[in-house]
This record gives sequence, structure tokens and C-alpha cells, in this order.
Amino acid sequence: MSKELFKNKKIEIVLENGMKIPSDKLIIAGPCAIEGYEQLLTTAKFIKAMGGNVLRGGAYKPRTSPFSFQGMKEEGINILKSVRKEVNIPVITELMDIRDLEKVYYAADIIQIGSRNMQNFPLLLEVGKQDKPVLLKRGMASTIKEWINAAEYVAIGGNTNLIMCERGIRTYNDYTRNTLDLAAVPIVKEETGLPVVVDPSHGTGIRSLVKPMSLASFAVGADGIMIEVHPQPEKALSDGEQSLNFNEFEELLDTIKKMGL
Ligand code: PEP
Ligand code: MN
Repeated sequence: MSKELFKNKKIEIVLENGMKIPSDKLIIAGPCAIEGYEQLLTTAKFIKAMGGNVLRGGAYKPRTSPFSFQGMKEEGINILKSVRKEVNIPVITELMDIRDLEKVYYAADIIQIGSRNMQNFPLLLEVGKQDKPVLLKRGMASTIKEWINAAEYVAIGGNTNLIMCERGIRTYNDYTRNTLDLAAVPIVKEETGLPVVVDPSHGTGIRSLVKPMSLASFAVGADGIMIEVHPQPEKALSDGEQSLNFNEFEELLDTIKKMGL
């Protein structure tokens, strides 16, 4: 089925800034969560100056505990809109609930479907009817086949502007937050022809592992990476322990360039 839906089509996603995916390397970076205007603005400017090409930032946050920070929701969406305009950078944000589709649609250049919603079939069918690129994260306990099936749920509505995102899966290894499955990159590219990006931030949960796993992602053919970056990771309201500070992000991009990845 995926062969029919994707393979005979040449998938090319053109973003507002003229970037072509998969031809151009996608560097998606930004905070786990939007925490305020200044935080997002400073981060967006820095990311763009360093050569990052898409800003990430969650307004609706799927947190494991209901007592953790749940995101700024609509206020966050409005901040995202302002920063996108002011910095002139494409943005991606997560859609968790069909009821927020319109708000997310008008604020984002790419709609993110998170790991926890990878098999939320009504949500997948709904974004499949939209004319915006969708980044589909792999479910944390999903096989590659199930992940491709989820992509088919989006594509079946006509939206084949899909970017697949490997973000690690649960295994018996509990040293890292998840186990980053880099073999999935060439497999999904081969099976679907869709662009695949890697999120080593959620994939490892450990800041010092973000750089090596980013480099490894490009080495196995990833079309891009998604990295959590925060001006002060130690003060982040979510995922600070896996977020890079500005210096670390700059160093990562320098190395990517130097290595010609
Ligand atoms: C995220 O990227 O903001 C996120 C919540 O990641 P995941 O859905 O992969 O857990
Ligand atoms: Mn996060």
C-alpha cells in the first residue's frame, strides 16, 4: 500500500522560505515548549543566524504527568505567530487535539503529530485532508510497520507532504530516555520514499548525546534533525536536561558543516 501511496510520487515539500525537502538539509531547532515571547524570539533569532531553517516550539504539550507544565496553549500559539513573522522563519508546532486544528493550521508551516498521537487515527485522517506538511513522529512503542501505516492514514486523505521523524522507542535499556533506532532511517526512506528526520533530543534524553547522535543521523542518510535548544536549559519548564544551550547548538552546526554532512 505504501508503495502506491508514496513511491510513485516524487515527494517534495517546499516551505515558505523556499527550502525543498528532502533536497535541503532540514535543521529544526527550538525549545521543547514555548515559555514566553522573549524566550522564543531570542531562540528563533539565534537559530536562524546559525543556519537553522525551521523553528520548533510546543504550545500544547503532551506531558506524562497532568501536574507538569502543559504548555501555554492559545497564548503560545499567538507568540509563535508573532515570532514567525518577526524573524521570518518557518515554524513547526504540535497538534494534539482536532479541536485545535484551525489555530495550529494558521500558526504553523509544518504540523507536528507527536509520538503519543501516532495512532490517533481520527487526528491522522483530519491532517490528511489539510494542505500543510505534516511531521509524523514515531510512536514510542511502535514498530516501523505501524509507523508507516500511520503515515498511510495521513496520505489516504490526499496529503502526502509527510516528513517522518524517528524519536526513539522504549526498550529494556533505561540508561537513555529512549533507544534511538537509526536503522529506521534507511528502512523508512526505502519503504516509502518519504523524507526522514531524527530527533536525538527525545531519542536520548541526554544533552551530551545530542551531538554524536545528530552526526550519526546524517551519516545514515537522514534528511534532517530536530533539536531542542533553550537559552537557559537549566531553567527550562520542560526537557531542560536534553536541551542544548546556544553555544552547544552553534558547535553542533559547525561540526555538521565541517564534516560536510
Ligand atoms: C516534542 O517533540 O515536542 C515531543 C513531545 O516529542 P515526542 O512526541 O516525540 O515525545
Ligand atoms: Mn520535549
